[in-house]
Amino acid sequence: QTTWLHEIEDQFGSDIVAIDSDIREKLSKDYYWYSPVLNRLLQGVKAADAVVLPRTEAEVAEVLAFGYAHRIPVTVRGAGTGNYGQAVPLQGGILMDLSRMDEIIEIGPGYARLQCGVKLGVIDRKAREVGQELRIYPSTYVKATVGGFVSGGSGGIGSITYGNLWDGNVLEAVIYTMEEEPQRLVIQGGELFNYIHNYGTTGIMTEVTIPLAPRTEWTQAIAQFPTFERSMRFGEALARDERILKRLVAPMEWPIPSYFIPFAKVIQEGQAAVMLEFAEETLALVEEHAQAFGGSLGHIIEAKNYRKTIGVSDFTWNHTTLWAMKTDETMTYLQAGFQIDRYLEQIELLKAEYGDELFLHFEWVRSGGAVTPTALPVVKFTTEERLYEIIGFCESIGVRIFDPHTWVLDQGGRGEVGSMERKKRVNDPRGLLNPGKIICEL
Ligand code: FAD
Repeated sequence: QTTWLHEIEDQFGSDIVAIDSDIREKLSKDYYWYSPVLNRLLQGVKAADAVVLPRTEAEVAEVLAFGYAHRIPVTVRGAGTGNYGQAVPLQGGILMDLSRMDEIIEIGPGYARLQCGVKLGVIDRKAREVGQELRIYPSTYVKATVGGFVSGGSGGIGSITYGNLWDGNVLEAVIYTMEEEPQRLVIQGGELFNYIHNYGTTGIMTEVTIPLAPRTEWTQAIAQFPTFERSMRFGEALARDERILKRLVAPMEWPIPSYFIPFAKVIQEGQAAVMLEFAEETLALVEEHAQAFGGSLGHIIEAKNYRKTIGVSDFTWNHTTLWAMKTDETMTYLQAGFQIDRYLEQIELLKAEYGDELFLHFEWVRSGGAVTPTALPVVKFTTEERLYEIIGFCESIGVRIFDPHTWVLDQGGRGEVGSMERKKRVNDPRGLLNPGKIICEL
C-alpha cells in the first residue's frame, strides 16, 4: 500500500494529492450522523488513504486510470452534505474531491452547462442575474455541488412544480468510466437514469447540463392552521392550483414549528405551519386558500428580501430534521411516500399508533407529473428495532418508505437499481467505484 501512496504523490504532486491525516479524516465523512443507525456503523470506518483534488477532466481520468492499474477504490466527494454515508470510502483507497472543478461553463436560454463542483447557490445567483434560475435544488444549496446533488440527492425546493431529478431535471452528463483507459461518455435521455442518484458507483460525472426556469420573484410565507389535517388539505389545494406558481409547500405538525427558533416570534403555539414560496403576484390567491381551510398567513417575507434574510426553505426538506435534532438530539427521521387518495387516513392511523413518537413533516411535490404527498417525518429514536418496527407499520398501511438509514442503493428504494448494476459491470469492471454502495455481483 505504501508503494502506491509514494507513486500517487510522485505522479500528481502535492498540489493535487493530500495524505495529511486531518484532511483525510475530514473529507472521508459526510452527514451520516443524521442517522443513529449509520452513525453507529460508520463512526469507526477508517479514512481514505489519500485525498486527490483534481482540477481538470484530464486529471480525473488519470487518477481513475491510476486506481484501476493499482486496484485501488475511488470514492468521489462534492461538498459531503449527503446524509446516507454515500461519500464515505468504506474500503479506504482514494477519496476524489471534485470541489475544485467549479466552472460555470455556459448559461444559455433555459439551461446551464456546469462543471460538477459548482455550488448550487452560486449557479442560482448567476442564473438569476440573467433572468433565469434553478428549477429544483436541495435545502443544502449554499454548500452542495451540482454533481453531488445529481449523483446523491433526489429533489427539493422547486419539486412541487418541476418534479425530482428523474423528471427531466438533468439534460446531459459527461461521465468517466473506471477502466484501464477511462472513457469519456456523453449521456442523454433515458440512459441518464443509470447515473442519477448513483453515488458515483457507475461512473464519475465531470460535467452536467441542467434545465433552468425563467426567474420568478418569490414571496415567502408561513401559513398557520388549527389542525394538521387542515394544513395538509390547504397544501393539496395549493399544489393543484395551476394559477399559482410555487416552489415550496411544506406542512409541519406541531411541535415541529416550535423547533424553528429564528421564527419563534411569528410561530403560533400549538398550530400546524406550512412553509411557502410562491410567485409574489399570487399572494391574494394563497391567502384565499388559507382562509378557506380556516388558516392565515402568519408571516410574510416580501420578494424584494429574497435571500437577504434567513429563508423559509432553511426549515424545510432535511433542514427540518436538523432543527429538530438541535432541540432534541435523540430525533431522527424517515422518508415516506403517502398515497394521494388516502393520505389523511394514513396520517390518522400512524398518529393513533405512534402519537408523540413521530411528528409529521410533508413536502408536496410533483412526481412523474402527479401531485404527491411525500413526507420526512421526525421520529424520536429509542432503538433500531423500534425504528424498523415503525417502518414496518408504515408499509403495512401503504406508506412507502425510502429508508434513509442505509448506504446501500438497492435498499434505499430510489430508482431502478438493476439497470445500474449492469452498467456498473461495464463501466467499472473491477468494482472500484465507491465499493459497498451498490450490491453488484461482479
Ligand atoms: P456529496 O455528499 O459530496 O456526494 C453525494 C453522493 O454523490 C456521494 O455518494 C458521492 O460519492 C457522489 N458524488 C458526488 N459528486 C459526484 C460526481 N461528480 N460524480 C459522481 N458521483 C458523485 N438532498 C436532497 O435531494 N434534497 C434536499 O432537500 C436535501 N436536504 C438536505 C438537508 C440537510 C440538512 C442535509 C444534511 C442533507 C440534505 N440533502 C438533501 C442531502 C444532500 O445535501 C444533497 O443531496 C446534496 O445535493 C449533495 O451534494 P454534495 O455536493 O454535498 O454531495
